[in-house]
Amino acid sequence: MTTEKTEFKPGDKVEESGVYKVTHDSTHAQGHEVTCVFGKIFPPCGGCKHPRFILVRAAQHIEHNDHFKT
Ligand SMILES: [Zn+2]
Repeated sequence: MTTEKTEFKPGDKVEESGVYKVTHDSTHAQGHEVTCVFGKIFPPCGGCKHPRFILVRAAQHIEHNDHFKT
């Protein structure tokens, strides 16, 4: 059984940079995609209490990529 999390909520730490699909309360907003960056915290939604973030495609942030470190 895997313990890997696939769904995140506000207050969780972003463990992987990438594109996340956000779902809101169905009466409030349609789902959409956002980019979240490693080390940040998933933010609360101003319009509903229970947004959920699901990783669609991981993509390392350029500032965290070894090739682009100064
Ligand atoms: Zn919302």
